[in-house]
Amino acid sequence: MDKPKIWLSSPHMGGNEKQYVDDAFSSNWIAPLGPNVTGFENDIVSYLSNEVHVGALSSGTAALHLGLILLDVKPGDEVLCQSMTFSASANPIVYLGAKPIFIDSEKDTWNICPEALETAIKDRIAKGKKPKAIIAVHLYGMPYKVTEIRAIADKYEIPILEDSAEALGSSYKGQKCGTFGDISVLSFNGNKIITTSGGGAIVSKDKKNIEKAIFLSTQARDNAPHYQHSEIGYNYRMSNICAGIGRGQMEVLDKHVSLRREMHRFYKSVFEQIEEAYLFSEFNENYFSNFWLSTIVFNDTKKNPEELRLLFERENIETRPLWKPMHLQPIFKNAPYYGGNISETLFKNGLCLPSGSNLLVHDKERIKECLNNYF
Ligand SMILES: *Cc1c(COP(=O)(O)O)cnc(C)c1O
Repeated sequence: MDKPKIWLSSPHMGGNEKQYVDDAFSSNWIAPLGPNVTGFENDIVSYLSNEVHVGALSSGTAALHLGLILLDVKPGDEVLCQSMTFSASANPIVYLGAKPIFIDSEKDTWNICPEALETAIKDRIAKGKKPKAIIAVHLYGMPYKVTEIRAIADKYEIPILEDSAEALGSSYKGQKCGTFGDISVLSFNGNKIITTSGGGAIVSKDKKNIEKAIFLSTQARDNAPHYQHSEIGYNYRMSNICAGIGRGQMEVLDKHVSLRREMHRFYKSVFEQIEEAYLFSEFNENYFSNFWLSTIVFNDTKKNPEELRLLFERENIETRPLWKPMHLQPIFKNAPYYGGNISETLFKNGLCLPSGSNLLVHDKERIKECLNNYF
């Protein structure tokens, strides 16, 4: 008989989600608007910062798409994007007929490398085109080098689209991730730190950006009694049912962050005894990660992450390779790339370990046994 499955990162309900969903049913707000949507947006504002405005959307990908539209990305434009990320960070560039330019990671945070970014900007300008936006990602919850990236963005006057899909609850120098971009994006997909079953949000300090995003996300209807449109719209608004789940999840977000960080401490104690691999951790006190996923990198070529992944799989435990960089993906093979082999090396040698906030002592024992058997 199979042992119960241990997932990499699975939904974890707090308890009050159903009540908010029931409220939606009893008031018949079964629509992509309603009190839960407004309530959820207010909850996110209270959590992130009173300086921001928030629009709840159907997904993080939709938020990235609208974010690029707000930053005026048009067909033929170039957009700089962290190469090591989930494809959803980069796909919306292509939706708009623009061209992605990929940038390598740096070793400290695994995120967009400031040097490679500046080299790319100078070279693209020299080639005749100034990039329209920089997409920077807080991978696995680890903040990117916020100060350095912001300095470069300001120097060349290129806005940042901050992909904080994996980093709700993380912070840099005490300020929450999701508040660093000219426009920022959150995701509430099923495997993220909190979930609405599927959903996302767009965040900005400029209220006009959020009003425009909500307008575009609800089919861009002009102010008229009939249906009139002077712009192309989208159906990207969050449903009041999903937002109800989100309101319940916001109540337990900080608890989930501390549980994920506890998983990371658990792995730390295990990997202190292991020489062939190291656990990815914050490299100084400015960085506070939600540790959405705990990840390791092998530094011994006699062992490899795929062997370990298969060993876990036989025990019905899910692990996953790190994100395969976009410049190595078949769909983006012709896209320009700036940097060295840092993201590629991380991809080859890394592995994501089960990190859910709902893993029990017994699950941890099974994971630990697997790791100790392998190493
Ligand atoms: C999950 C994720 C997204 C996309 O969010 P969805 O809500 O799934 O559309 C974008 N970027 C990164 C880095 C992600 O991990």
